[in-house]
Amino acid sequence: MRSINFALALFLLVSGCTSGSSGNSTPTAADAKKFMDDVNDTAFKLSLEAGQAAWVSETYITDDTTALSARANQRLIDQTARFAKEAVRFDGINVAPDVRRELNLLKVSLVMATPSNPAEGEELTKIAAKLDAAYGKGKWCEVPNKPESCLDIDKITDIMRDSQDEKRLRQVWEGWHTISPPMRKDYTRFVELSNKGAKELGFADSGVMWRSKYDMSPEDFSKEVDRLWTQVRPLYLKLHAYVRMKLREKYGDVVPANGPLPAHLLGNIWAQDWSNVYPLVKPVNADKGYDLTSILKSRKTSAVDMVKIGERFYTSLGFAPLPETFWQRSMLLRPRDRDVVCHASAWDIDNVEDLRIKMCIQPTDEDFNTIHHELGHNFYQRAYKDQPMLFRDSADDGFHEAIGDTIALSVTPEYLVKIGLLDKAPDASRDIGLLLHKALEKIAFLPFGLLIDQWRWKVFSGEIKPEDYNKAWWDLRLKYQGVAPVSARGEDFFDPGAKYHVPGNVPYTRYFLADILQFQFHRALSQTAGCTSMLNRCSIYQSMEAGKKLNDMLSLGLSKPWPEALDKIAGTKQMDATAILDYFKPLDAWLDEQIKGKPVGW
Ligand SMILES: [Zn+2]
Repeated sequence: MRSINFALALFLLVSGCTSGSSGNSTPTAADAKKFMDDVNDTAFKLSLEAGQAAWVSETYITDDTTALSARANQRLIDQTARFAKEAVRFDGINVAPDVRRELNLLKVSLVMATPSNPAEGEELTKIAAKLDAAYGKGKWCEVPNKPESCLDIDKITDIMRDSQDEKRLRQVWEGWHTISPPMRKDYTRFVELSNKGAKELGFADSGVMWRSKYDMSPEDFSKEVDRLWTQVRPLYLKLHAYVRMKLREKYGDVVPANGPLPAHLLGNIWAQDWSNVYPLVKPVNADKGYDLTSILKSRKTSAVDMVKIGERFYTSLGFAPLPETFWQRSMLLRPRDRDVVCHASAWDIDNVEDLRIKMCIQPTDEDFNTIHHELGHNFYQRAYKDQPMLFRDSADDGFHEAIGDTIALSVTPEYLVKIGLLDKAPDASRDIGLLLHKALEKIAFLPFGLLIDQWRWKVFSGEIKPEDYNKAWWDLRLKYQGVAPVSARGEDFFDPGAKYHVPGNVPYTRYFLADILQFQFHRALSQTAGCTSMLNRCSIYQSMEAGKKLNDMLSLGLSKPWPEALDKIAGTKQMDATAILDYFKPLDAWLDEQIKGKPVGW
């Protein structure tokens, strides 16, 4: 569920050397313009090469395609690292606003800055690769020295989803968390060295560098994230109380009547998505009343047909159809005779019109939604294709994911009726099941989406010391999620390392933002489309007015600060989580009924 963008996504590494090329006279505004033209040209060429190589390597996995892709990728990274260093030369030079924005983007698009000292730079690069690999190879072996008993994250995920055996879940949960203690020492050093690199680039620490990407001061951005959470927290508390009550009915005293939820009983190894416990908490007599998966199966809807339906959603909003090459080059089915990466993704190979999706489509409700989501990336990518290369990206890193999800929110029963997949939409009395299922995914995720970087920002700033890494992690999980481990997790553990994005060093706040933004977009576009029913029943299908607003925003790409992009759709420059409350209003009232007289909070 990601978009592949080879322009900014790959500005991963840069040396913090700020001296630039020595001996040059003071550069001029014209030099800066010429420099940026060069950056745009080169990034365009190298990202095309890297994109083509990556596509082949993911749709035909062999040692050779992997090596070719890694090489093309490295060329792009090395070149952009050189450019980012050079950009510092133009600090303090008076240049056109667009050029200044491009120069700034070059500098803040880094996720990790290596120190200029070559030995330290090399050490950091090695540690980063080692941490990433340690996670990737992570396995828990039930029987030591017996490889067939080892569980990787995919198998762990399956068990956490399917098992309802408390002891087994606890064992598997604890098992997976044995992969990360060896990372602790490396992570500590990683923090020291990456902070050093960030300082050389003029940032107080790496966390400040990350927060500098949001067109506001890092301090204001932290406050903004807190403000959004405060808006939605009351609804989360109700969902938490309800799920606790139901899980207590199922599992007994291991689930406290009024304390935090046990971390291992929420259907997901990180307790970040609770939709797998839906069967345990679902409302009586409020099932959604239709089963899209069986409809698609009985009609023998093909993968191409499903994508055509998705495309029609976007053309109904006024977007041009996908190019012919999309149909020729996309991978829509799992090939019979070769290994591929099936994880759904949307691609923009040439940063112009060579759009593709890569999926192993099954005729299911989930894949039907995912197609609408992935195509959101593709239509975003094409909408900003006329921007300079550095602006061919979403308004901030939360926007790209939010767009696909916004469209997926329009996949309502009424929409399914309009496109002929459903005869009659179920009445509103069926909504609770649908809304509860969505809340277990989207509302349950919010505190988790928030706390990963709360922990990291404090780790980078030094507020959380290495000797308190694990305690601070669980303090935050308790504070935000109301989730706790069932046995003591002392400093001999390193539980943050059991979540990919920590050893992988991928910033996480974007997912929190996307979760907030998609509802705000959905509410605003539904109003534009003239929808007067409950927000969860609104679809913007066939609304040219909504489509125009959407396109106005998408076509800006990254050329303007995100509040201006937001304003194009929402008519406000402020993010607002109250759209979530509007969307879940019927569920909120229902939850009040369910938890009447029961404890709330922990
Ligand atoms: Zn996505």
